Amino acid sequence: MYIIFVGQPGSGKGTQSEQLKEKMGLTHIATGDLFREHLSKNTPLGQQARGFMDRGELVPDELTINMVRDRLDRGDVGSGVIFDGFPRTIGQADALIALLAERGHKIDMAFNFNVTDAEIVRRLSGRLMCRKCAHVFHKDSNPYLACPENICEGEYLYQRDDDKPEIILSRLEVYNRLTKPLLQYYAQKGLLVNLPGEGSIEEVTKALVAALDRIEIPA
Ligand code: AMP
Repeated sequence: MYIIFVGQPGSGKGTQSEQLKEKMGLTHIATGDLFREHLSKNTPLGQQARGFMDRGELVPDELTINMVRDRLDRGDVGSGVIFDGFPRTIGQADALIALLAERGHKIDMAFNFNVTDAEIVRRLSGRLMCRKCAHVFHKDSNPYLACPENICEGEYLYQRDDDKPEIILSRLEVYNRLTKPLLQYYAQKGLLVNLPGEGSIEEVTKALVAALDRIEIPA
């Protein structure tokens, strides 16, 4: 099963990926996480990506697509993939179809979580990440109480540089200009599922699982 989350930043793509990957045994490929890994290791790709990320812009397609190709070739993709935050441009979307076709796969569904801009700004500006367990918290609506992995005590929480107010607005503008056209792209292919994204985490997961139940897996 190959599914895509194309919603706005802060619409719940990462959170829902966490819920689904365990339930369905899927591999979670989040290009933002992969770029942040390169940044923290200061790799040549990390150095090339840094400026774009700091400004809330997209990393150029060629670099992004090559990184995803390398990730797919790591050999740990079992029963399928959740692509989280990839593709983000029409060029990336065309490339993903080709990358999957070369491997004998195709996209089953693309999900968009509908969330208002005001809620996006609220979520992102209060979002806290953990450097150690990699879970995402929110200072008001999902505060750190205990580590879901039992490996930290809240001492590694930080706010992403691109979750600062002025960068959030630029990321939303980039989304509207470059990524939003993907909704029509996938709708035309009959692959788009729009879900309300403002319910509780459990409600959104339930709607997601109900939609996925409609996918027919070849025997
Ligand atoms: P995210 O964690 O998905 O919000 O991504 C953080 C940042 O990484 C984005 O603002 C972009 O600079 C970069 N990035 C992540 N995914 C992509 C992508 N598919 N294409 C280009 N840049 C990306």
